[in-house]
Amino acid sequence: MKPLTINFRSKAAQTIGDEQVQNSLEHVYTGFYQGRINAASDTPNWEELRTKGKAIKDHTIAHLDHYLDMFSEKVEQSGGTVFFADNAEEARQYITELAKDRDIETVIKSKSMVSEEMSLAENMNDSGFETIETDLGEYIIQLAGETPYHLIAPAVHKSRKDVAELLDEDFTDGDRVPDATELTMLAREQLRDVFARADMSVTGVNFAVAESGSIVLVTNEGNGRMSTSVPRIHVAVMGMEKIVPSIQDLSTMLRILIRSATGQRISTYVTMVNGPKTPDEEEGPEEFHVVIMNNGRLKLLKDPLLRESLNCIRCGACLNACPVYRKVGGHAYGWVYPGPIGAIVTPVITGLKDATNLPAASSLCGACHEACPVKINIPRMLLELRHKTAEGLSDPDERTSKFVERAIWKTWRIGMMGRGRFDWGARLAYLFMRPFSINGWIKKAPPPISGWTVSRDFPLIAGKSLKYRLKHRHKKEI
Ligand code: SF4
Repeated sequence: MKPLTINFRSKAAQTIGDEQVQNSLEHVYTGFYQGRINAASDTPNWEELRTKGKAIKDHTIAHLDHYLDMFSEKVEQSGGTVFFADNAEEARQYITELAKDRDIETVIKSKSMVSEEMSLAENMNDSGFETIETDLGEYIIQLAGETPYHLIAPAVHKSRKDVAELLDEDFTDGDRVPDATELTMLAREQLRDVFARADMSVTGVNFAVAESGSIVLVTNEGNGRMSTSVPRIHVAVMGMEKIVPSIQDLSTMLRILIRSATGQRISTYVTMVNGPKTPDEEEGPEEFHVVIMNNGRLKLLKDPLLRESLNCIRCGACLNACPVYRKVGGHAYGWVYPGPIGAIVTPVITGLKDATNLPAASSLCGACHEACPVKINIPRMLLELRHKTAEGLSDPDERTSKFVERAIWKTWRIGMMGRGRFDWGARLAYLFMRPFSINGWIKKAPPPISGWTVSRDFPLIAGKSLKYRLKHRHKKEI
């Protein structure tokens, strides 16, 4: 998927003005956000679990090469093949060549954000393979020709009517829009045939267990289980950070992932895959391949200040908690990963130059940090990226704007460092502002000042300080 991060402002404005999408985004709060809060309060040792989850991820990321080696060895011992791809292009090429070599016609896909990084379905369709998404949300957005809107709910922005029209334009009956069950049954009917004729599947990986060489998928629709058992070739694609050391660690991670993502105690399906089928097994794929992708993750690993973002387990809780995401929606972020975590990962992977708006798209309220099951300090990293942005500005207009901003803050700092200076500054500002309708005037200020002033009010500064007024009122009272 080509990054369109540069369009953040226009896309955000478009979403804010779209009443239907705003209504759909409400469900992110009432559904997922509230679900997580309830699930956390029903789990007695929730904070302990979060601390344990963070410790597991910190340890694994610090020893990533060791656990990746252990995992690859185990997969190969069980008859699977592991391919390390440095970037999306290499991963895509491996999968496409494999499909060509095995005379594949139909490929089914189960939900995977890593495959979105490589625009896999689109590219495989262009290469002549029939490639169909089987997760309901992904299927809907594939029909719409769009990209996912949310990490766990790719079509959350679509209304029931939109979905009905995408599945079958004759499906709505006058004003009556089919309910969710009817829509699901229609999609199920359409997908059954595809499952039956597919000879290759590509799935994501929620966790990869180093000690056993297992991959683990968490789904609610059963498409993951069908994808891993029906076609004769199964390819699992994962980012290199998806490793956990042991089955015991997996149990902790599953508990915090599922509760944080959907508010469930356990999802409908948790599927573990250990290599291709053995001679005494009747079901399962004949071939099992795991593609482990870097695609910029090593850059994050090398950066001590941003490395923590590799702890992300893609639960989506930070999106649901974020007041900015809930207004601007997923497409404004312009690449695969939206929301607060996307605002960190996207600039590093796709390049900070065109993505400077993303780290700025946060009120730094800390709701994402509070919601994150592995306690990732997202606000700290956003500030770090803002700092990097300010340091590396190349556009002369932006440089001037930063220069003006710095000068204003410097003056402010000097004024705030002494009581007398502060009082004099406030008095001068009052005398300067009083003759004008300052609010109206300042709103018409030219760039770069308008970047700050267009959406802010400037009420008249008080002529006398609070301290002065209190002192004199006290005197009067005596
Ligand atoms: S940063 Fe935390 S809350 Fe956000 S998706 Fe990742 S694990 Fe979930």
